[in-house]
Amino acid sequence: AGIGRAGREGVLIKGGVYLENLGKVRAVAFDKTGTLTQGEPVVSDIIALEGTESEVMRLAYSIEQFSEHPIAKAIIKKAQEMKLTPLETHEFQSLTGMGVQAHVGGKKAYVGKPEHFKQAEGDFSFNRQFKDLRGRGRTVMVIGIQERIIGMIAVRDEPRPEAKETIEKLHAMGMKIVMLTGDNQDTAMAIANELGIDDVQADLKPEGKIEAVRKLEQKYGKVIMVGDGINDAPALTEASVGMVMGTAGTDAALEAADVALMGDDLAKVPYAL
Ligand code: ADP
Ligand code: MG
Repeated sequence: AGIGRAGREGVLIKGGVYLENLGKVRAVAFDKTGTLTQGEPVVSDIIALEGTESEVMRLAYSIEQFSEHPIAKAIIKKAQEMKLTPLETHEFQSLTGMGVQAHVGGKKAYVGKPEHFKQAEGDFSFNRQFKDLRGRGRTVMVIGIQERIIGMIAVRDEPRPEAKETIEKLHAMGMKIVMLTGDNQDTAMAIANELGIDDVQADLKPEGKIEAVRKLEQKYGKVIMVGDGINDAPALTEASVGMVMGTAGTDAALEAADVALMGDDLAKVPYAL
């Protein structure tokens, strides 16, 4: 009866055991990008360190055209608005939780977190402009050709409108709220503070998200992980209850999840509890 009732409210629970577990949960872990945020980032800043802004965007576009990540979609959209055409690109590779790379015009090029460039460039994350953008809740990608960073692209991804109230409701129910993200600490903290989240674990690869869920289970017993399936599907499987955004979520995530939230409505999390 409980499963049927929840189903009519847009919470699809895939079995009695998950309904049972929902009654015992004491902590909720949320993925950031695409889950707490709308997952439709918009390019907010383009900074050229070499050449022009168009050249920086064109190189990023050439690589990102092969990626499905929400950040890639933002960059593709902006590049198309700027009427740019991609350069000849081969050997595209996705570096999970870090960025993307390919051979563009015969040279190895990269878009993603600057941490990937450490050996080549020294620590770019000390760059003043870069730090400033992160501190304002933006996710900042560097664009590099071989050993040189030629520019930065920042994206802004707004929290879902119901996110803050959902966290408040979960707090009122006595839940501990944790954000797990592959994004960096500064950007993640800016968003977590805005939403009133208790704890942030940033710079996590998909394996790191599994480990984080395991630790939460040791501490709190039953734990919910809410995600969109991009770089968090293994963590959804690990959690006592894996909840996936029904529309924004990937097919693989929908399959791996124990509970699907129709309409991508975070308010369904406290409802389910
Ligand atoms: P989250 O855990 O917040 O959902 P992800 O694990 O999907 O984030 O990605 C972590 C970080 O890796 C992003 O914030 C970004 O810096 C980088 N990244 C991932 N995919 C891409 C991409 N296609 N282009 C550029 N950067 C990317
Ligand atoms: Mg995500």
